[in-house]
Amino acid sequence: PVPPFLEKTRNSAEMYEEASETMPGGVTANIKHFEPYPLFMESAGGAKLYDVDGNEYIDYNLCYGALMLGHGNSRVIRAVKEQLDQMGTPVFGTPHALESAVAKKLVQLYPGIETTRFTNSGLEATMLAIRLATGWTGRRKIAKFEGHYHGGYDQVLISVTPEEREQDVPPRSSVDSLGVPDYYRDNTVVLPFNDWQQTEAILEKHRHELGAVILEPVQAGFIPPDIEFLKKLRECTLLYGIPLIFDEVKTGFRLGLSGAQGRYGVIPDLTALGKVLGGGFPVGAVGGRQEIMEICSPNRRSDILSFGGQDTGKNGGSDVLFHSGTYNGHPTVLSAGLATINALEETGVYDRVEQAACRLRQEMEQILCDFGLCGRTVGVGTIFNLVLSDTPIREVQDLLRSDLHLRKKLDTALLERGIYVKPGNRFSLSVAHTEDVLAETLERFEGGVRQLIRK
Ligand code: PMP
Repeated sequence: PVPPFLEKTRNSAEMYEEASETMPGGVTANIKHFEPYPLFMESAGGAKLYDVDGNEYIDYNLCYGALMLGHGNSRVIRAVKEQLDQMGTPVFGTPHALESAVAKKLVQLYPGIETTRFTNSGLEATMLAIRLATGWTGRRKIAKFEGHYHGGYDQVLISVTPEEREQDVPPRSSVDSLGVPDYYRDNTVVLPFNDWQQTEAILEKHRHELGAVILEPVQAGFIPPDIEFLKKLRECTLLYGIPLIFDEVKTGFRLGLSGAQGRYGVIPDLTALGKVLGGGFPVGAVGGRQEIMEICSPNRRSDILSFGGQDTGKNGGSDVLFHSGTYNGHPTVLSAGLATINALEETGVYDRVEQAACRLRQEMEQILCDFGLCGRTVGVGTIFNLVLSDTPIREVQDLLRSDLHLRKKLDTALLERGIYVKPGNRFSLSVAHTEDVLAETLERFEGGVRQLIRK
């Protein structure tokens, strides 16, 4: 007999075949692919996704965490429609009022943001943040952490999907580095997350060459940092004059209105944002200390620029650091972003979603335990992951030692029962994940686990 997943998703299978004829792997982003084929969705609303075979799913992927308000939030949809009606066009290609309106919000909410620039994606935001940091210091090397993702470009496609290792120090290559010129590997230092002793030693060794240290303050959106580790990283980078970049593409507007920096009280020099900020539309933003940000100003203010007494190298003087983009600060995107921020600013929103996540985690763990499975959830706030392991998860190496094979089978069972997770990926919640939705989820989850055990 045909396995139930294949039986239920015949139209997706067909559409996948068709898509594969014109797009490598049938997808426009590798992350969207999974075995045996990705599901094609047709419509969505609230916490639900509906596929091309008429199946309904409770969505825990939420476009990789971007949809903090769920699908089709009425305030966001209204704001977008109004923008199109009022401005008479999606985009002017000139400055406009929404840019300042959203910039002001970011400056108010993020302690590390004094001024900001918009981009079209999280990738562009981290790329600009790194260029600002290396341009400002005049130093070419950067340090990143093992297993941390900052977007798909050469400089950071190093140690994104690492392999299991025995030694203390992470290697610089990984499976994602195919096609990346050696130059980038040679100029990227890889650090182990949550391991201060090793991190400090490596930073000390490269202190005079490093123009930036970048990290996801919460690894992959769900492995929390040791607060002491974050604080020491901040102190050390300040001491060495290396700009510290928080990639808050996942954590921004997720760990609260002020992201990880607000939650942990550790303030970076530069911050990259994306995902939730776009309210479902493509966006990114970079913000930070004014004296660093100012180097990309075509109208540089010399009263701000001090170059911090740093080794300014070649990029000192009057050169302007390049930053541009046809669709940067797109009005439709920013209207959705502003409506999203306004909705998130209402009292109690984060508490409610975090409580829901907490309840879901506890009950999922109980179900796993009832069925004799060795598993736990790992996460912070509104995002968590399910890890089939009995050891604490502090970094990516701990994940690699968990039962990834069983997790994959569980994910297929969950998809079959109408829980949408990208296999192996984290669970994100939204304001649309109400009590009813959680109860339904737990019922489906229990069914999925039961099915897994029976096999
Ligand atoms: N940084 C982090 C931490 C991310 O999670 C992502 C996206 N998953 C990016 C950067 C890249 O963002 P985008 O996909 O919008 O380019």
